[in-house]
Amino acid sequence: MSNVYGSLINGEWINTGSESANVNPSDLSDQVGTLVETSVQNVEDAVAAARAAQPVWEAVKLEERKNIMHAIGQELIDRCDEIGTILSREEGKPFAEGRGETFRAGEFYQYYAAECLRQIGESAASVRPGINIDISREPVGVFGLITPWNFPIAIAAWKMGPALAYGNTIVLKPSELTPATAWLLADVLNRHLPPGVFNMVQGGGKIGAALSSSKVDGISFTGSVATGRKIAQAAIQNMARVQCEMGSKNPMLIMGDADMDVAVASCLHGAFGATGQKCTAASRLIVHKDIHDEFVDKFSKAAAEKRVGHALDEGTELGPVVSEGQMDKIMSYMELAKDEGGELLTGGERLQRNKEGYYLAPTVFAGTTNDMRVNREEIFGPMTCVIKVDNYEEGLATANDTEFGLSGAIITSSLKHAEHFKRKAQFGSVLVNLPTAGLDYHVPFGGRNASSYGPREQGEHAKDFYTIIKTAYTNPG
Ligand code: NAD
Repeated sequence: MSNVYGSLINGEWINTGSESANVNPSDLSDQVGTLVETSVQNVEDAVAAARAAQPVWEAVKLEERKNIMHAIGQELIDRCDEIGTILSREEGKPFAEGRGETFRAGEFYQYYAAECLRQIGESAASVRPGINIDISREPVGVFGLITPWNFPIAIAAWKMGPALAYGNTIVLKPSELTPATAWLLADVLNRHLPPGVFNMVQGGGKIGAALSSSKVDGISFTGSVATGRKIAQAAIQNMARVQCEMGSKNPMLIMGDADMDVAVASCLHGAFGATGQKCTAASRLIVHKDIHDEFVDKFSKAAAEKRVGHALDEGTELGPVVSEGQMDKIMSYMELAKDEGGELLTGGERLQRNKEGYYLAPTVFAGTTNDMRVNREEIFGPMTCVIKVDNYEEGLATANDTEFGLSGAIITSSLKHAEHFKRKAQFGSVLVNLPTAGLDYHVPFGGRNASSYGPREQGEHAKDFYTIIKTAYTNPG
């Protein structure tokens, strides 16, 4: 593979632009490659290429479209060790997670390959005698897709799958922190698709901003709330449809009747999977007073035992965080938690390993309250805070007291509380006796409130964003 990560426009690689080093967060002496940031003019050219290719792609026979998408998915699955290694090297998640994410990306393409053949319309009875009504879905046109670094291949896949299945073309703007994974993905797509159907522009916020204010027909964005607001405003100027999936502050409510092993294992997975750098990470552990002390003791001891190391070392359970900027931000929240009166149970520091990297210890604070900033703002790292509550009602109210609403979980053996939580918790996903993170790929995904704007992603519901409805009336005479 190349170690120069340029942009792909109309089937041609463009490797000119301003260069910056793509560094391995597990080992700062390891330069994975060089990111080449493209120009605003190239963004416009990419949109024009996607515009020209859209009727070509729409005209490709459905079975052929299905076969192409299936082959893309199969190549990702077949190469998940190789691509997963690069992903883990540049992003920092342990190899098992990098490999698993690549495999999942392949599954997304194969799921949407099958959706190509499931484009079934509706007919309606008319209020006027003798008139037939057909309701069908058509492609929207050209989509700009702007993605974050924390799932650099899966998120791109879950947006591209439905965009392509329903006959649209694409300009992808991946994160500037994961250009190598984006390059590998683009290389696969470029070999399977006609030129211009898939285009990619590499670079940072400037290039993302240029794409969101370009003449695309829709923008799908995943990233922070602050960026999502800007993108939505820019898209609306052009009347482009827009979908934003953003941050959160996900709670896990641990009831007094919880199975302790399930509670500890679920919270470990929720809080520290992908080094806590998940939009669905469990960052508020709301614990019933009857179980609080035992839970806090067992959970913080288990967190301290997590093996933090190089993403590609066997046995690593937590890799480094992705960048110096992320590390500094997370460490500032560790200091803030102390200043706000939280009790540090474990972690709270940077770790040294054989190679210099952005390693942070899994961190648990107890004695926090829901009004503290550490419980209101997204931290996006291996840090979680415990809030003690007296009863279920207080626990549910605390869980819902957030500006976000992506994922919420309860650990309980009470059917009554589980069912009540499923109905009353204000989150896009609610889970019982499971972590907030780790969801299926064939069902809708998205949040509420500040976590999400626009229709759901994933599963067949994705068609609401990636198609436009036409209502046809016929008077057969
Ligand atoms: P980010 O908002 O900094 O960047 C996301 C993408 O937007 C990147 O490609 C970036 O280059 C681009 N960008 C930055 N400024 C831009 C601008 N002004 N206009 C257009 N594009 C711009 O987010 P990040 O740090 O890459 O990712 C972490 C965030 O993503 C967290 O808040 C996390 O919760 C969120 N996230 C959400 C989900 C979800 O599905 N809800 C999934 C994963 C991550």
